[in-house]
Amino acid sequence: MFGDTIAAISTAWGNSGIAIVRLSGPDSWPIAQRQVRLQTEAPLKARFARNAVLLDEAGEVIDHILVLPFRGPHSYTGEDLVELHCHGGSLAAQRCLELLISGGARMAMPGEYTRRAFENGRLDLSQAEAVGALIQARSNEALRAANRTLDGELTRAVSEIYEELTSLGAEIEVGLDFPEEDVPYIADESLAGRLEIVRQSLADLLERCSSGVILREGIRVAIVGRPNAGKSSLLNALLRESRAIVTAIPGTTRDIIEAVLTYRGIPLRLVDTAGITENYHDEVEAIGVERARAAMKEADVCVWVIDGSEPLHQEDVDRVHELGDAPHLVVLNKADLPQQISEASLTALIPASTVLSVSAAEGLRLDELKESLVGLVSGTGALDTGLNASSRQVEELRGAIASVGTGLKALGDGLDQALVSGCVGDARRSLSRILGGDRDEDLLHEIFGRFCIGK
Ligand code: GDP
Repeated sequence: MFGDTIAAISTAWGNSGIAIVRLSGPDSWPIAQRQVRLQTEAPLKARFARNAVLLDEAGEVIDHILVLPFRGPHSYTGEDLVELHCHGGSLAAQRCLELLISGGARMAMPGEYTRRAFENGRLDLSQAEAVGALIQARSNEALRAANRTLDGELTRAVSEIYEELTSLGAEIEVGLDFPEEDVPYIADESLAGRLEIVRQSLADLLERCSSGVILREGIRVAIVGRPNAGKSSLLNALLRESRAIVTAIPGTTRDIIEAVLTYRGIPLRLVDTAGITENYHDEVEAIGVERARAAMKEADVCVWVIDGSEPLHQEDVDRVHELGDAPHLVVLNKADLPQQISEASLTALIPASTVLSVSAAEGLRLDELKESLVGLVSGTGALDTGLNASSRQVEELRGAIASVGTGLKALGDGLDQALVSGCVGDARRSLSRILGGDRDEDLLHEIFGRFCIGK
C-alpha cells in the first residue's frame, strides 16, 4: 500500500467536453471533500456520482463538476479513488489539480496509477503494459490486440505454459532427489514429448506477440533503387490512394521523405531514399546515398525499385543479390510503358526474391504491393489473433524457447536430467518476468515510466 495520495489530470490536454482529474490514495475522499461543495448534504457514497462546485482558496466558484468516488479495493488502483469531472478546456482542470495539490495531494508521476493498480494486484504486468499500448494504439487492430491482452489472454497463455514447466521441473527434481529407484521419475521420452509441446506452444505465442508488436509499431519500409526508377512516384502513389495517411514529411527530391500510412491496421512507415548509385555527382547526393544505406539497415523490409521500361542494369541485379536473406521485394515499375524486362525473366535472374510489376503513375497493383510487404514481415495470418506484447516480453519468450531447446538437446544427447532441470528453470524464470512475478525494481520503473502522467 502507498502512504500518499496522488493527483493528476487523466484526460488529454486541450479543448474537450469534460476533463477528468483523478485522486488516488488514502486521503482521496477527504481531500476532494475539502475542495468542493456538494450540491446536497448527504455524505459521499462509493460509485455514486454527485453534483458539486469546485471552490478556490477564497471560496469562489471555479467550475460546476461531478464527483465520482470509489472505495478501495474496488477501484482502478485498488485504493480509495475520486474522479472529479470538470468542464473541458485545460484551465478548469488545471485549477482543480492545483487545488487538490494545495489540499495535500502529490502530483502523480507518469504511469503511477497503473503502477499502483499493479502493486495492489489489480493488474498483472502484461495487463499493465497493455494499458500503455491501449493509450498509444493508432489503429483498430492494435486496439483490439491491446484489449485482448488486457482481458488476460497473454497472461492466461503464459501462465498455462508456466504451470506445465513448473510441474515438469518438480517431476524431474523428484527423480533426482530419490535416485535409489535407479530410474528417473519421468522417462526421458515422455519428458522430451512434453517439452516439445511446451516449445510449440511458446512458438505459437511468440507469433501472436510478434504480430502485436507489428500492429503497434508498424513496419519500416525503405524504398530504394537507382535514380529515376520511380521511388518518389511510388511513395506518392501509395499515399494518394491511401485512406489513412498518418504523417507525411516533405523534403526535396534528394532528401529522404518519410510517410506513415496504415494498411489493414498496420502502420507502414515508408522511407523514400535518394537514388543509390556509386556514380554520384556531388556532395549533396553523396550524403543522400549515405542516408539511404542507413535507412536500408534500419528497415524491416526493403523495396528495390527498377524501371521496367529500360534495359536491366547489372547494378540492379548485384544490389538485389546483396540484400540476401533480408526481407525485400523487387518492384518492376512503369508497367504502363512498353516493358524491356518481364516479371518472369527478372525472377529467373534473382530467384530468391519476389518480383512484382506495378505502375506508380497509374496506381496499378499497389494493394498487392502492400499485401506483400505485410506478408514478408508478419508471415502467416496471426495478425487477427495478435496480442499486445512489448519488445521486452517478446525477448523473454524467445529466451524461454531457447532454454527449452537447450533442454531438449541435452535429452537428445543422453545427458543427465539435472541439466534439463536447469533449462526448465531458466524458461520458467523468463515467463515469470513476463507475468511480473519477479519484482525487479528497475524493470518496473522502466515499464511504468513510459506512461503519461494521469494514467
Ligand atoms: P526516383 O528518382 O526514383 O525517385 O524517380 P521519380 O519518382 O522521380 O521518377 C522518375 C521519372 O519517372 C519521373 O519523370 C516520373 O514521372 C516517371 N515515373 C515514375 N513512375 C512511373 C510510372 O509508373 N510510369 C511512368 N510512365 N512514369 C513513371
